[in-house]
Parts: sequence; structure tokens; C-alpha cells
Amino acid sequence: MPQLSPMLQQATPVIAARGEGAYLYDADDRRYLDFTSGVGVTNTGHCHPRVVEAVRRQAGRLIHGQYTTVLHDQLLTLTERLGEVLPDGLDALFYMNSGSEAVEAALRLARQATGRQNVIVFDGSFHGRTMGAAAMSTAGIRFRAGIGPLMPGVAVAPFPDAFALGLGEDEAVTHALRGLDRVLATTSSPAETAAMFVEPVLGEGGYVPAPPGFLAGLRERADRHGILLVADEIQTGFGRTGRFWAHQHSTGVAPDVLITAKGLASGFPLSAIAAPVELMGRAWPGSQGGTYGGNAVACAAALATLDVIRDEGLVENAARQGRHLADGLRKTAADVPAIADVRGLGLMLASEFLRPDGSPDAELARSVQRYATERGLLLLTCGVHGNVVRMIPPLVVTAEQIDEALESWSAAVTEAVR
Ligand code: PMP
Repeated sequence: MPQLSPMLQQATPVIAARGEGAYLYDADDRRYLDFTSGVGVTNTGHCHPRVVEAVRRQAGRLIHGQYTTVLHDQLLTLTERLGEVLPDGLDALFYMNSGSEAVEAALRLARQATGRQNVIVFDGSFHGRTMGAAAMSTAGIRFRAGIGPLMPGVAVAPFPDAFALGLGEDEAVTHALRGLDRVLATTSSPAETAAMFVEPVLGEGGYVPAPPGFLAGLRERADRHGILLVADEIQTGFGRTGRFWAHQHSTGVAPDVLITAKGLASGFPLSAIAAPVELMGRAWPGSQGGTYGGNAVACAAALATLDVIRDEGLVENAARQGRHLADGLRKTAADVPAIADVRGLGLMLASEFLRPDGSPDAELARSVQRYATERGLLLLTCGVHGNVVRMIPPLVVTAEQIDEALESWSAAVTEAVR
């Protein structure tokens, strides 16, 4: 009998039968509070009634309007509506299915539009698993090991991870920007550098927000050298951090290209890159596409997602509930020396576990995550050493659900450190 490939692994033993809001249920109707949101995807909660209704309606009208053959109304309407939330000037959109594909699309665009080959990424970044995106990812060795040779032309500059560096935020920014200048002086000449790809909050790499000043420093260098600044907002986007986009926490800084996926369509495979039409016009027409890009049902889900985020004030809720969750996590951390740091933005929060000697404690992080699952709270780990436990609740989460999660969290931590 065929079986699922052992290459695929799960963080929990749960077999989900249905989902509703912040909860997943198994076949026995056991309820789990889902603070993974399918890795930051179900921002409107599982099966939001307005998303479900839009999908039902669209499935009966048109499922697949293949976008290199015909256009369809959902794609055109979504393109128009995304203008309501995109930074000014990013007025052309191109759609794919997954985050990785959108990263590859941005990479192709950057190379074609600039005629330059290299890209710079930041230490600890995750941009995906397809071969180009994998070459741009340094969030953990499992994303790169054994699959080489990887795409050449990728240089890695430091990310201002103040906690890991043992520096204050301003010093960490200075350190990282000096490191970037060094990469431009030693490894990837500005004249050969097409783009810098940055996550405004490192995701898989450990939930590290870029301190104020870093993105401004990147913007300044991008302008000085004619390098494109590409914001990978795949995990940080769609309201998660308490602003619609996480780069908006760095006042006055806008990217040349913005990449979105995950929360965009509440669980349907849809991703997009946004850039000025003039920039997109410098790519070779017809050089990008795909069978499923901009799927009609996925676009309908994205339109309903935008409505729900606006009508239910989910960006504001992410900021409010994020403060509540962060307070609770800090309270637990105050009593537990192994939790060395609590950090994040909005509803993208994490606790980092260290041993008494200061080395990463992935084992403890994993065991907290397992005890939490037993208590009905689903969580994921992250971080380059796997010693960070992250919380990514849906943006519809209530204060009561956060209290419920915090109670399970503190019990799971107590059990794991015992
Ligand atoms: N970039 C970032 C910042 C991500 O968090 C992810 C997914 N975790 C990706 C890219 C890749 O997206 P996908 O898994 O949809 O290919």
C-alpha cells in the first residue's frame, strides 16, 4: 500500500479533520488552539464564513481561467483592490502560487530589469525551497544540505540580530550595515548586484524584527548603487505584525519590490509580487508565467480576505492582541531562566531557549512544543538552531483565546523544564 514519503515530517501527531476560527479539530472532535495558522497563512482564521462563501460562489462560476491564455474578473478585481493596501508606487502585480515561486519571480525580474546577476540576502533569511530560493536561504542547514550545487551569485550579509550578537539595537544595525558595505566591497560589486532581499522580521531564522534604522540603511545603499530593495513579506505580511506590511514599522522606507503569499488568500495557494509598472516593464514580456498562477478561486478567497481584514479591523486586532500575548510571554519568561529572550512584532512572537552556558537549547524548545500540543495548543519552532518557539495566532484571535494559550504555554514550559 502506498504511504506518505518519510521526507515529509510533521511538528505534531495531529490529524486535522476540520477547522473553525482559531481552532482545529481532529476526527474525535478534540479541539486544538492553532497558534501556527498553517505557518502564518490562515490570518482570517480557519474557514472564515465570508472566505468560504466567496470560494463556493467562485467554484460554481469559474475555477481555472488560465492566465497566460485568458484573463478573468477575479484577477483584475484583486489587482485593483490590492492597490488599497500596497505602498504607493507599487502599481503592477504578477501572481504565482507559492511564496518560493514569488521569490523566484522577483529574482528573475531583478536580474532582467537591472542586467545584473548577483543578489544579497541576510544571514538567517528564509526565502523558500525551490532551487533559486534555497540558494538565498540561510535559516538552517536542512534547507541547503545535500542538494547542491546551489545557484551561484548569492552573497550573504549580516542581519542585525541584536540578541544573538549581544549588542544593543543601534549597535547591531551599525554592525550589519558595515557588514553589508564590506560584502559590496569584497564579494558582490555594486555594479553587479541586482537586488537585496530582506525579511523585515526574520521568520524561519528566529522571529527577529529588523531594528529601526536597518531598512533605512538598506534603502540608502539601494538608492546609492541602483540596487533593488526587495521586501519578502511572505510571513510578515497581511496585517500580522500590527501594520499591514512589516516594513511599515520603519517609517518612510518603501521597497522597490514587495513579495506576498501565505495570508493573501487565507489558505488557497496564491502569491504575488508588486513593483512599479516601469520596473516590471523592464523584464522580458512573456518570460514569466505558470499553469496555475492567479487561480480564480484563490483570487476570490483573497478578495474576501481583504474584506474581512478591513471590516473586522484585523490589523488593529493584531497590534492589540500582540501586546497582550507579548506581556503574557514575558511574564512566563521572568520565572524561567531558560527563556532568554521574548521578541517579535504584533502577532508574530517567539521565545528563545538557551542552556545555562548560553548555548541554544533546541531539545527544550521541542519538548515545550510537544507538551503544548498535548495540552491542545499547536505551536512551531524556528531559529537557525531550532531553539525558538514561535506563536502565530490568526489575526481574529480574542483576548480569551490568548489567555487560554498562555495558560497552556506556562504549564508546558513548567513541565518541560522540570
Ligand atoms: N519567504 C518567507 C519569509 C517564508 O516565511 C516562506 C515560507 N515559510 C517562504 C518565503 C516560502 O514560501 P512557500 O513555502 O509558500 O514556498
